[in-house]
Amino acid sequence: MKYSLQHRYIATVFALVLGAVLALGGVFFITLRSVTRSITHQSIDTSRELMLDQLRDRGALMVNLLADNLAAPLSHADLKTVHQLGVSALKQQNVQYFQVFTPTGEILDNGLGNGPLSGKRLTDRVSEQAVAANATLVQIENEVMDVSMPIFVNNTRIGGVRVGFSMKELNREMEERISSFHDLGHAKRDEALTMLFVLSACFITIGIILAYFLARNMSNPVLELAHYAQRIGQGDFGFRFSLKRKDELGLLSRTMNEMALQINEKNKALLDAHTLLEKRVVDRTRELMLAKNKAEAANRAKSNFLANMSHEIRTPMNGVIGMTQLALLASPPPEQREYLELIEKSSYRLLTVVNDILDFSKIEANKLELARERFALRETIATTIREFSFKAKEKGIALEWSVADEIPDDFMGDAGRLSQILINLIGNAIKFTPAGTISVRAEKEYTELDEFVVHFSVSDTGIGISPEYQVSIFEAFSQADESHSRQYEGTGLGLAICARLVSLMNGQIWVESAEGQGAVFHFTALLKKAGDEPPALEEDVTQPQSTEPTQDQLGPQLEILLAEDNLVNQKVAGKMLERSGHKVTIAVNGQEAVAAFARQPFDLVLMDIQMPVMDGFEATQAIRDQEKDSGKHTPIIALTAHAISGYREKCLALGLDDYLSKPMKIADLNAKIAEHLPQGPDSPEKTA
Ligand code: ADP
Repeated sequence: MKYSLQHRYIATVFALVLGAVLALGGVFFITLRSVTRSITHQSIDTSRELMLDQLRDRGALMVNLLADNLAAPLSHADLKTVHQLGVSALKQQNVQYFQVFTPTGEILDNGLGNGPLSGKRLTDRVSEQAVAANATLVQIENEVMDVSMPIFVNNTRIGGVRVGFSMKELNREMEERISSFHDLGHAKRDEALTMLFVLSACFITIGIILAYFLARNMSNPVLELAHYAQRIGQGDFGFRFSLKRKDELGLLSRTMNEMALQINEKNKALLDAHTLLEKRVVDRTRELMLAKNKAEAANRAKSNFLANMSHEIRTPMNGVIGMTQLALLASPPPEQREYLELIEKSSYRLLTVVNDILDFSKIEANKLELARERFALRETIATTIREFSFKAKEKGIALEWSVADEIPDDFMGDAGRLSQILINLIGNAIKFTPAGTISVRAEKEYTELDEFVVHFSVSDTGIGISPEYQVSIFEAFSQADESHSRQYEGTGLGLAICARLVSLMNGQIWVESAEGQGAVFHFTALLKKAGDEPPALEEDVTQPQSTEPTQDQLGPQLEILLAEDNLVNQKVAGKMLERSGHKVTIAVNGQEAVAAFARQPFDLVLMDIQMPVMDGFEATQAIRDQEKDSGKHTPIIALTAHAISGYREKCLALGLDDYLSKPMKIADLNAKIAEHLPQGPDSPEKTA
């Protein structure tokens, strides 16, 4: 219902007025009625009293007269006169009966007939009282007024007279009067009612009009206020509204104005702030975008730099290490052998440092991802331990290891990185332990479904670590004692790399040690238990090779295409292959390699990736295209100075069969070749 307030207001006022009028009218009417009624009754009663009195007086007078007149004839026993007096009495108006009686109540005459009666007695109650009365007695019964009086002669009662006056006329007259009174009362009441009705109608009409105007006076400004509030609600603040009233509504309108004004101001301030904020956000976003782009560019430059550095350092290192290996194989005189062995050792040391720095930079740039490949835990640990067996024996240190029986062997994960952590820890243990034992242990920490948390520990009996230094030991470039770096070689990166690798494996690393009492390095790693999937291709975990396989072990001579732009590397790889009895064709870039492959068939291709004119990936693609017609598949092994994780996957995806990272060892090279051509060049496998 719209604007029901007004309707309700009118209805309320109307109801109040109506109620008041009805109540007043009712009270008025009831009072009027009772007043008229009492007045009427009073008048009737009064006039009845009056008439009765008149009748009584008249009766008494007449009976008195009769008694006087009857005294003489009665004392003389003149019954004839008595009878005449009775006859004349009966003729009087309203006289109904007449009786003269003896003191004993015997009726002497009743004015009827021709003469006196005798022997008739008065027997009813009224008569008995009349006979007994000593003075005038008036008795009213059955519309008859009985007036009796004793008759005295010389103070002796000689009898009594009794006259009955009919009251019928009086009663009729009374009735007439009462009815006329009633008629008058009714007429008066009707008059009063009419007046009441007219007055009520007037009051109600005035009430309605009053209510209507009052309601309008109340609800119209409320409606206006509502309309105003609606406009404010819709955000229209430009519009002012004021009720010229001194009452609460006027106050409300002024308050609303004030409110609208304040909201408007606040709104404006808010809008300004918002605009400013938006502008700032835009500015900041732009700045951030610029900074981000810059950072990304810097990061890209850093990655490129890392890749290039890796390539640039590894390539000459490849030459140094390769040539040293070849020179050592050429049976040099003992003195030269010693020099060459020193060169080889230094080269490996340098390579480790370079690898550490590259690893650390990669981790810092979030470039390092862990591989997810199937591996055997015990074999991984055993291989890692084996790397140190020579060194440990040299120092006279016992090196032992164990894996708890409850730990399964097949896992999915990055065995290379796991063994890198162990290599670091075992390497440090050997480095800082002059004598005693080094133990490597793997225990179950926790397992759920296919997840397995293995707790590794490497303990030694070495110089130990001071508590102060234990705090910062896993930070980069930190070494316990500045003098260490001279006494013990190292970059202070090893443990920092371990810590980051461990956190990539969702594990934790910590140390327990006391100065001079050895150290125990702990770390946990979350490994996934391997399912039923087939084992992955064997990981190229760096393995120390002390013995060089002989020609016989390598199988028959192979035709190998070597695509390599770097002269030193051409020499190294070429010589290594030739030493193993293979025939080598060299291509200086990808394009030449593709051309050579088109000219003649090869058993295997060693493909450098970074080459001018056409890189290794493109060349591989072209070779694979050539092979499409023949259905042949020649193994192509990438040679790369990149040691980035995921590189192997990339190589496989781009049509290569495997990859070898530079600098390479003769043993690794031969192993890779044997892996891809196990049956030699003439086996049917090759043309599969
Ligand atoms: P570095 O390559 O210099 O050894 P690490 O990060 O591997 O760098 O080790 C940092 C330092 O922590 C070492 O220089 C050495 O002071 C201390 N440290 C590491 N392992 C041990 C250990 N097993 N016993 C005593 N000190 C150790």
